[in-house]
Amino acid sequence: MRCLHCGYKEDKVVDSRATQQGSAIRRRRECLKCGKRFTTYEYIEEVSLMAIKKDGRHEPFDRKKILSGVMKACEKRPISMEKMEEIVIQIERAIQKKSDREVSSTRIGELVMEKLKVLDDVAYVRFASVYRQFKDVGQFMEELKGILSKEGSRRKK
Ligand SMILES: [Zn+2]
Repeated sequence: MRCLHCGYKEDKVVDSRATQQGSAIRRRRECLKCGKRFTTYEYIEEVSLMAIKKDGRHEPFDRKKILSGVMKACEKRPISMEKMEEIVIQIERAIQKKSDREVSSTRIGELVMEKLKVLDDVAYVRFASVYRQFKDVGQFMEELKGILSKEGSRRKK
């Protein structure tokens, strides 16, 4: 598994355990070069989930794509890789519960936003500005203003 920090390809597993729901094995790995730790998840390959794009085309639900979007939104924010992975897992689980195992890409975006909103305001706005494609700039500014004033009042405390 390529190290997230330095790109080195060898690591050792320092801890291995089932996730709470038992649907995945979580492994803590330590890079043999830089010594930093990261987490991987091992899953049973399940019936593939489908994402429906805005133009109606179907494509397989792509965990990596969503994770990379989340990572971009969380750049330089105090959010651990584990938290980001957790967001993707939760979304995946939500889709798996649907009988048709299909979800629109718009809905995926909304789900990510819901999770980020709870986690980090800045990451949320970053993600929202790209994925929701706000109807107009005014709407975006409203959203931003709300968040900034919330931050302001938090700072005063
Ligand atoms: Zn490394």
